Amino acid sequence: MKPLVDEIRSAAHDEGFADVGVTPAVDSQGFSSLVQWIEHGYAGQMRYFAERLDAYRHPRGVLPGSKSIIALSYPYPRPPRSDCPVGHGRAARYTMIDDDYHDIIHPKLKRLCRHITQSCPDARARGIVDTAPLMEREVAELAGLGWRGKNTLLLNRLAGSYFFLACILVDVVLPYDTRESTAHCGVCTACLDACPTDAFVQPHVLDATRCISYWTIESRELPPVAIRSNFGDWWFGCDVCQEVCPWNRKPTRGYLESDSSVSPESSAELLSLFELDENEFRSRFRKTPMWRSKRGGLLRNAAIVLGNQRDISAIPSLLMGLNDSEAVVRAASAWALQRMPTPQSRAALGRRFAIETDPMVLTELARDEPS
Ligand code: SF4
Ligand code: SF4
Repeated sequence: MKPLVDEIRSAAHDEGFADVGVTPAVDSQGFSSLVQWIEHGYAGQMRYFAERLDAYRHPRGVLPGSKSIIALSYPYPRPPRSDCPVGHGRAARYTMIDDDYHDIIHPKLKRLCRHITQSCPDARARGIVDTAPLMEREVAELAGLGWRGKNTLLLNRLAGSYFFLACILVDVVLPYDTRESTAHCGVCTACLDACPTDAFVQPHVLDATRCISYWTIESRELPPVAIRSNFGDWWFGCDVCQEVCPWNRKPTRGYLESDSSVSPESSAELLSLFELDENEFRSRFRKTPMWRSKRGGLLRNAAIVLGNQRDISAIPSLLMGLNDSEAVVRAASAWALQRMPTPQSRAALGRRFAIETDPMVLTELARDEPS
């Protein structure tokens, strides 16, 4: 099997993966921590964790008969933070690859799986990229790709944390890597201290219900009013706990040019989004990572950023949001407009209050003191 692993490693590098490691498929060491995390409510509305909980116990839950796992990292661009002009919103760096990363990485994994089954016809192989019930970071750590930082992400001394993780599960025994994944966080607490919403309960434990990435990407609801202003300019995702990490300070190293184009934009123009109808929204975002939030989520996020910027040039767009067909957009726009109390916005809020029937929107419209 040694030549096979060497072949896989070489083919993986050809596909753009920067690091490759092989580990046995074993019981998940972090399973009980996952159970506690869910029980504390830290998963929020991400019900898929609880719904597939048993599958996380062992990689067999993803591929029956799993014996080995090939862990792979696929770096993405990490330019320094640039200015975010008024009327624009900031997006996490992984979105700078123009296509949805699942669409980029899945075909690569498929080709690698085919390579494995052609060389070893009795083997079965399944490639996954964060959509299956597998503790990917734990697996990657076991495979020697890095260590889990206090910000919960996998860190690598050369690549920092700006990379996607992918895994290929196989039901044959492969020679394993013996690289050690020593932790190098030391006494640093930069990520914990910098989080704008205090989302870390303790090192290595994230309360997703306080995390900007959760609210702007995963949730379909309106974020709690207490933390909305902490979102700042973050429109889709948040990189703060990666930006401050000393392991991400080095110039991009290990980033391999993917066959996908990289957008030069580190911020998105938000005002015009309110003018797009459902079809226009779909055609603009359907193939991007942002489509996960759908139209309602993206406009909700846009309204919150505009509310945080408090620039009155955004009022016409927010007035469109106030009369949007989706309640979450109306609610977020109402909150944002209350932060810009001009005669125009006050009058529009009053008119909306007179006809609004959705309880969530009414709650926002009735706020005396915008937070
Ligand atoms: Fe905090 Fe942002 Fe990191 Fe979430 S992504 S834990 S909000 S710094
Ligand atoms: Fe570890 Fe510091 Fe990076 Fe946080 S910022 S992950 S504590 S090295």
